[in-house]
Amino acid sequence: MKNLGNDLQQRKAQHLYRSRRISEGPQQPEMVIDGRPVISFCSNDYLGLANHPEVKAAFIRGAEKYGVGSGAAHLINGHSRAHHALEEELAGYTGYPRTLLFSTGYMANLGVAQALAGRGDSVLEDRLNHASLLDGGLLSGARLMRYRHNDSNDLTEKLVSRNQGDKLVLSDGVFSMDGDIADIAGLVSACNNHDAMLMIDDAHGFGVLGRNGRGSLEHAGVSPADVPLYMATLGKALGTAGAFVAGSEELIETLIQQARTYIYTTASPPAVAEATRASLAVIQSSPQLRQQLDDNIRYFRNCCNQTGVELTDSQTAIQPVIIGETQTTVEASEQLLAQGILITAIRPPTVAEGTARLRITLSAVHSRSHIDKLVSVLKIIPPSDAR
Ligand SMILES: *Cc1c(COP(=O)(O)O)cnc(C)c1O
Repeated sequence: MKNLGNDLQQRKAQHLYRSRRISEGPQQPEMVIDGRPVISFCSNDYLGLANHPEVKAAFIRGAEKYGVGSGAAHLINGHSRAHHALEEELAGYTGYPRTLLFSTGYMANLGVAQALAGRGDSVLEDRLNHASLLDGGLLSGARLMRYRHNDSNDLTEKLVSRNQGDKLVLSDGVFSMDGDIADIAGLVSACNNHDAMLMIDDAHGFGVLGRNGRGSLEHAGVSPADVPLYMATLGKALGTAGAFVAGSEELIETLIQQARTYIYTTASPPAVAEATRASLAVIQSSPQLRQQLDDNIRYFRNCCNQTGVELTDSQTAIQPVIIGETQTTVEASEQLLAQGILITAIRPPTVAEGTARLRITLSAVHSRSHIDKLVSVLKIIPPSDAR
């Protein structure tokens, strides 16, 4: 029988053991974690909507109107007016004919890959895609091929090598551990030229990138008509929970018929959909939130530049400080925590061996003094051993 104790011990020895911290209140920059006040720089709540008064009020009204549990899957009787209205509003906002809600982004990605690809087909993925896209590709039963990071030429070569079956290309819009933005125009032309279907997972772009916050397509100046499938999560910039897939009428109907992670799971609570509708309204009525986030990104990068803290080229809210060795990274994270700054160490297998990092994320609701404190503490981090 598998020796679980040994495996756990080994993880500890390799500094790969993960454990949870307990937070006492809402998601926001100033938190109490494990009983200690900290400034958090690791949340994906990029616009501060997880604890926004209008979003909370909509959630409470939703619970009063619909109760708490949805009671059943969408195809039984769990699909409420709230879910349906949110799907329509998301379609209007993204510019796609239809959208479909999933309970989580992980499930959306598994469901899409399994519904649209199978034996004899190919799923092609960026090497640095999120785990849920890679797992979707594996579970689909199609041949999974990974192309070099953000390299449309390598993708093209791999597409050319596959002349049988359908081809599905999956990419993050903003890469979750690096913060760089996909070359969407390059992906679109590679897919158009080689009869492949493209899906962009915009978990970290939706709500924040582009003039109107429509995400990485708007940022790249690419029309929804050129990207047949678009997916985004609602638990990050929108501050609630869940995910949606956007596409044509036929695509969405196909997912409703075929995506197992859609069919065989309880619909998320209607109140969550009501809260998300409120977030979507805030995102559209408050461009200043995106402006504040952009100002914070620029301010943070300038401060780091002046104090010699080494950053990558990322222009998004995800600003990794790559340290390299796992143990050094874990120690750096602990040192930061001792100074009241919470940033988790991201280690293999989440990122490649030798590229462990502090994944700093900025939010519109961080103040200048939060960022000043962060930069002053980051100065104590040893220089990168990865480059
Ligand atoms: C967070 C994330 C997901 C998963 O979404 P959940 O709603 O948290 O399950 C999928 N793709 C990417 C790129 C993500 O960052």
